[in-house]
Amino acid sequence: MTGWRRDPKIYGKPDFIFKKEKLAIFVDGCFWHGCPSHHKKPTTRAEFWETKIGRNIQRDRIVSRTLRADGWAVIRIWECKLRDYPLSEVKRVNRKLRELRAQIEASKTPASSLVK
Ligand SMILES: [Zn+2]
Repeated sequence: MTGWRRDPKIYGKPDFIFKKEKLAIFVDGCFWHGCPSHHKKPTTRAEFWETKIGRNIQRDRIVSRTLRADGWAVIRIWECKLRDYPLSEVKRVNRKLRELRAQIEASKTPASSLVK
């Protein structure tokens, strides 16, 4: 796959972006982002962590929503999925890229060429 890059200027600091396709990819750590299958509530200072991680999850949602409102496609990948099923995650990204590229192509086709 080509075109992976980072750009810290993008809102929410995605882990990777495909600039041309406007695809932002976030790799979310299981603990910090509250992965449903791996996040275990710490037993010490449980309330502190719950609040902290709750805020992270909320911020993730805001970031995704804001980017989408700005015309970006957003994919969030759980760290554990990337580790355990990297191929299926790469496929998911590839599928999205194809979709976005098709949209770009479609929007580039001049209207006159559609009339034959
Ligand atoms: Zn996980």
